[in-house]
Amino acid sequence: MTDQLLIGLLFASVISLFSLFARLLTPGGAFAQFGLGTILLGLGGWKWTVPMLVFFILSSIISRIGKSRKTSAEGFFEKSSRRDAGQVIANGGIAGAITLIWHFAGTDSLYIAYLGAVAAATADTWATEIGTLSRSSPMLLTTLQRVEAGRSGAVSFMGTAAGLAGSAVVFFSGIWWLHDTFPGIAVFVVLGGIFGSTVDSFLGATVQAQYECRICNKITERSEHCGKKSTLLKGVRQLNNDAVNLLCTASGAASAWFAIEFIA
Ligand SMILES: [Zn+2]
Repeated sequence: MTDQLLIGLLFASVISLFSLFARLLTPGGAFAQFGLGTILLGLGGWKWTVPMLVFFILSSIISRIGKSRKTSAEGFFEKSSRRDAGQVIANGGIAGAITLIWHFAGTDSLYIAYLGAVAAATADTWATEIGTLSRSSPMLLTTLQRVEAGRSGAVSFMGTAAGLAGSAVVFFSGIWWLHDTFPGIAVFVVLGGIFGSTVDSFLGATVQAQYECRICNKITERSEHCGKKSTLLKGVRQLNNDAVNLLCTASGAASAWFAIEFIA
């Protein structure tokens, strides 16, 4: 085993045990994070670890701050603020896969795809967390109808601004390793973040599964609510929030990578 892989294993153990005991992740979520962390640091190094770490730390802090203010919207979201394996893979799986491909193929432009994936995860998470706190009702991306806060596919000014800020933060977290490359790269990373979270909102407004609770009649992303199975209202059952988030990060990676390959 190489030293780098050993460092990766040790660091990933520390971070995932901390996440478990700080109740940021479920046991399954901590296990998935251990695997992801080992790939990122053990095979990629700090360059491929710091942006994901920045996403995880800042997003955890933002969810905690917002938690007290959005208890009413909390019931809508498919899962509570303690993230499970599905959420860890949905947000970090594409970035982990890109790191693996880079480890074996060594193509430098893959780093922009990686940053695009992390930017999309960050933009989507921040837009959801901050947008839910907005006092004005968000609009559905497809029909521009005003809907209640937290609805899948709903966009707001505050949420979009938070998404832009999140994408910019991800770019700056990788800037140490980008200093001698094309300076316009920031645009591509931010583009990846915004494109990915727009795909997320679009899928949320169209094909993502939405349910109605049989007990409290709330519209929800959860297939179970109030302890009972809820009724599928619209969308495709398999396209739950995790599947949509995975497509969001894949779109972020693909758009940033296409931009750097074909425009720059
Ligand atoms: Zn209910």
